[in-house]
Amino acid sequence: MAYDVVIVGGGPAGLNAALYLGRARRAVLLCDAGTPRNAAAAHMHGFGSRDGIPPPEFRRISREQLLHYPNVEMRDTRVGSVEAHEGGFRVSLGDGTTVAARRILLAVGMVDVMMEIPGYRGLWGTSIFQCPFCHGWEAQDQAFGVLATEPAFLDYGVVIQGWSRDVTVFTHGTFAVPPEQRERLHHLGIGLEERRIRALHGTDGRLEAVELEDGTRLPRRILFSAPPQRQPALVTQLGLALDELGFVKVTPMGETSVQGICAAGDMTTRMQGALMAASAGGIAAAMMTHGLILEDANRRYTAATGKPPPVMTKGH
Ligand SMILES: Cc1cc2nc3c(=O)[nH]c(=O)nc-3n(C[C@H](O)[C@H](O)[C@H](O)COP(=O)(O)OP(=O)(O)OC[C@H]3O[C@@H](n4cnc5c(N)ncnc54)[C@H](O)[C@@H]3O)c2cc1C
Repeated sequence: MAYDVVIVGGGPAGLNAALYLGRARRAVLLCDAGTPRNAAAAHMHGFGSRDGIPPPEFRRISREQLLHYPNVEMRDTRVGSVEAHEGGFRVSLGDGTTVAARRILLAVGMVDVMMEIPGYRGLWGTSIFQCPFCHGWEAQDQAFGVLATEPAFLDYGVVIQGWSRDVTVFTHGTFAVPPEQRERLHHLGIGLEERRIRALHGTDGRLEAVELEDGTRLPRRILFSAPPQRQPALVTQLGLALDELGFVKVTPMGETSVQGICAAGDMTTRMQGALMAASAGGIAAAMMTHGLILEDANRRYTAATGKPPPVMTKGH
């Protein structure tokens, strides 16, 4: 039997897609490798009705609610490959099995590539954050650092002042700050450090100081940093079209450049957040449902009449 949809990834995007597809009576398999982007974070903020929930608890509740729908199957396994097969797809799973699917929904998130600064990895998600909307409230008015590894991030240093007036921008020696930007930061009361960072120091995931290349230590409690991201291996294998920032190109309905494969969540956008990912998962799932039901209806129509169906709606 072919599943209607195999969902790859069980974060907010994949879980919400499974809920939509489940309620639409589709046969769904949700596969998750268990490496969500927010794994290091103790709490998840900004998700209405779930503000402050530990991420594992969010996923547990989502999965518990999916148990209500016997047509949704969940497996803790990595999807190794997806290949076109007989008008649908053949999906190889890490548990050694292969399943057939009519459609694929990718919700694999992104991989944050940790910066090569000693101490960075151990502080990621507890004192180093990407998003002030997610963690700025809890950290407000503390000593902030902003790691600006390209000129565009200088503005970020200004925006972060919305959460604390004690902000130092660190360029880590990656570019020369234009004089007018230097003057702007100075007049806004934002510190600027252009020396390279030698190490980040902290205890139990709590940042204490940023050490510069000459050994100077600047006390800081929170560092905002957007490290580079890359697509998980499966996306590269599939050869999906990417945009100039490296995100999978999708239509507003989540359709990728490959017929039958949709994508949702962080892998498709720089606007990354749990609620936005969940919403995108729901939208893609709704449109896939339309496409599947119309495809079946068209087949029945052709079987009954011998005629091709009139083309009215584009399904996917
Ligand atoms: C440190 C940190 C803190 C954050 N805090 C917040 C916050 O407070 N509030 C907020 O709204 N957002 C927060 N975010 C952002 C939020 O985590 C993401 O926007 C959200 O998780 C994206 O959901 P997603 O479903 O697209 O991807 P993810 O949640 O990353 O889930 C993707 C899933 O796909 C799985 N996967 C990948 N490849 C495969 C494969 N081949 N087979 C099977 N499974 C696979 C992964 O294991 C993972 O479980 C935070 C992010 C970080 C890094």
